[in-house]
Amino acid sequence: MCPEPAVRGPARARLEIDLDAVAHNWRLLAARARPAACAAVVKADAYGLGLAPVARTLRQAGCRTFFVARLEEGARLRAHLPDAEILVLDGVGRGEEAELEAHRLVPVLNQPGELALWRRYAAARGRRLPAALHLDTGMTRLGFTPAEFAAVEEEDLAGLEPVLVMSHLACADEPDHPLNAAQRARFAAASRRFAGRVRRSLAASSGIFLGPDYRFELVRPGVALYGVNPVPGRPNPVRPVVRLVAPVLRVFTLDAPATVGYGATFEALAGARIATVPVGYADGLPRAASGRGRARIAGIEVPFAGRVSMDLLGLDVSALPEGTVAPGCEVEIVYGPEGVDRLAAAAGTIGYEILTRLGRRFVRHYRGGAA
Ligand SMILES: *Cc1c(COP(=O)(O)O)cnc(C)c1O
Repeated sequence: MCPEPAVRGPARARLEIDLDAVAHNWRLLAARARPAACAAVVKADAYGLGLAPVARTLRQAGCRTFFVARLEEGARLRAHLPDAEILVLDGVGRGEEAELEAHRLVPVLNQPGELALWRRYAAARGRRLPAALHLDTGMTRLGFTPAEFAAVEEEDLAGLEPVLVMSHLACADEPDHPLNAAQRARFAAASRRFAGRVRRSLAASSGIFLGPDYRFELVRPGVALYGVNPVPGRPNPVRPVVRLVAPVLRVFTLDAPATVGYGATFEALAGARIATVPVGYADGLPRAASGRGRARIAGIEVPFAGRVSMDLLGLDVSALPEGTVAPGCEVEIVYGPEGVDRLAAAAGTIGYEILTRLGRRFVRHYRGGAA
């Protein structure tokens, strides 16, 4: 099982990131999407997994088009990917035009004012600049309304080179939700005038699995690249990417009943064994998983004991034979084919939120890929 009790090693948890799995997942989604092309969404530091190693791995796997949310993310990404197409979902704000151009970033224009701004800038520079157009079809978040979109005349695009028309699905992870078909129909109708000359894109990770009608010319998965199940309730088609492991810091063998952690919410019986590991909510382990999450030691699942602290977590390891859990023993906090999703469910959240918060304080260990 676990090494002999000894002086423990460094009290560090580590986040293992399997870049070969990221590449595998991209190839799988790209194959699924064909003949549509497959981009990759690497916003928020590649969902917390590290922009540079993830993006380089995806580029090597054959991905040529990348989406980020913020201008700063695009500028960082350009330094690592000199020859990729990079689109910025935030679009363009006043004063950002020159930086977008300098890094050859394509703004995803989200409203008529942005279109006017980008066009004026292109005219002032005397250059044709690429632009993507975002159409809102039911998310009510960003993008031209259908009426605003219909009002865009060819001359409003003069001086720009439209490279993509896109929209975003609100309920793609619920295949039976009627909004999916409604959004698809609105998108198809509104974007028809661009068909054949500008790529169209509607589907993110889950949308790819709604069928060929949803894929148009480009799909743009994010979370499924990183191992989160894009088809909740069905077997996960993608490979897990992250594993979170931590060493046991110390073990209590109780000779009398005791409570564990803040608020004394967990009552352990005499004879119970409680192990403490250096993972807390400041590392991105949600406090809401207190009393609900599970970890694994030597292949055996053990429950979280008491509240998640800022830096520490208690585990009830009573199910393991006495003497088998000792300081230095390795504990898995995120593990297995649906590890991120399982922790998310325990915390009442989604895999996206778990992933984007996990990268905070852990040492990252990359395997494979283009690290
Ligand atoms: C985040 C995002 C994506 C990627 O979504 P996933 O569900 O992670 O695949 C695609 N398009 C837009 C507009 C996004 O904001």
